[in-house]
Amino acid sequence: MLIKTLLNKVENFKSFVYKAVHLEVIDGVEALVVDVQPRTNAKPECSICGNRFGSYGTQSARLYEYVPFWGFQVFFRYSPRRVSCPVDGVHVERVPWAEGKEHMTTTYKVFLARWAKRLTWKETAEIFRSSWDSVYRAVQFVVAYGLANRDLENIKEIGIDEIQVWSGHKYLTLVYQLDSNAKRLLWSGAKRKVKTLQTFFKELGKERCLRIKFVCSDMWAPYLKVISSSAPNALNILDRFHIMKKFNEAIDQIRREEVKKLKDEGADNVLVKSRWVLLKRPENLTEKQTVRLSQIVKINLSSIKAYLMREDFQRFWEYKYPACADKFLENWITRTLKTNLVPMKKVAKMLRNHKPLILNWFKADGRLSSGTVEGFNLKAKLTIRKAYGYKSLTCLQTALYYTLGNLPEPKLTHRFCG
Ligand SMILES: [Zn+2]
Repeated sequence: MLIKTLLNKVENFKSFVYKAVHLEVIDGVEALVVDVQPRTNAKPECSICGNRFGSYGTQSARLYEYVPFWGFQVFFRYSPRRVSCPVDGVHVERVPWAEGKEHMTTTYKVFLARWAKRLTWKETAEIFRSSWDSVYRAVQFVVAYGLANRDLENIKEIGIDEIQVWSGHKYLTLVYQLDSNAKRLLWSGAKRKVKTLQTFFKELGKERCLRIKFVCSDMWAPYLKVISSSAPNALNILDRFHIMKKFNEAIDQIRREEVKKLKDEGADNVLVKSRWVLLKRPENLTEKQTVRLSQIVKINLSSIKAYLMREDFQRFWEYKYPACADKFLENWITRTLKTNLVPMKKVAKMLRNHKPLILNWFKADGRLSSGTVEGFNLKAKLTIRKAYGYKSLTCLQTALYYTLGNLPEPKLTHRFCG
């Protein structure tokens, strides 16, 4: 009796009533089964138009899994009626606790999905005696709801990034909203092609695209073209995060070549374990790494030259006026082009080719902190790394939307957790 009282408190359906509650063995385990019946005179609802008509017989009883209670799995047991709708014909009725043929109740899906945000999907499945696939379906449901119900108006600032997924050259293009009041993953698409980004702008719609004021992106030519044609009112900014990424790629290439050269010469190889020492900013180094850096600096290596050039370039971001920044940039490029460090020279040429877009950084008035795209990039990578169970790209995208999308959730009448 008390269980029914509690159920009516957490989940009350206007046209249905809870009947008997039994302990029964379901799939070899004792579970709580709650019989559900239509309220007297309540007609079934057509699953297509939502109107109520006479019943046309019932189907055999189905079990719908609900939120577990005291370690017992809980199931609603109900025999769905067939509705005879004059417009849509004979169909199985729509029930308020589950969708279509789904054997999990909507409430249970939201419950599972909430736990899946805190734990891995595998752990969630284990704790609630569910399966990985059920947890995935639960997250999918919540994500689909969130995507359909989120607000896409007033998007003024976006950032475009791409990340490598799994091994090989599989990429996902990610678009973030960077407005101070709404930072979230907006969109993700397979690959990083002109068409990928075009799809995003197309899905967002022309009106909304016209309202975009700032776009942060990588200096990848096909993207730059799509941005200028699809968001014509936006200032395209090549942001700090993406530019410094190019520096790190260059430093790493120089280091790798130098490691190989030193090895061939049989020289004592100081560079082998120095990758992170060179890629990190000095203030982020551990004590041991700082000692290592001071050791490498003593030797006149190209890797160190490249490292120091990057550190020198960091001053660029501190300028307030575009004209001063421009002067510094030109000076840095000229100096770099005189060196013999080919990867660094490449960076310098790239900076010169994209100078107007880089200087846009200063026109944005410090609105776009490089931290936001970088933070999202790290979180996305973490999601992918945790993704050992994610079987497909669609699944990975669902996980990314779920962790980074800040999506609205279906509303439950009761707060079960979190
Ligand atoms: Zn109908």
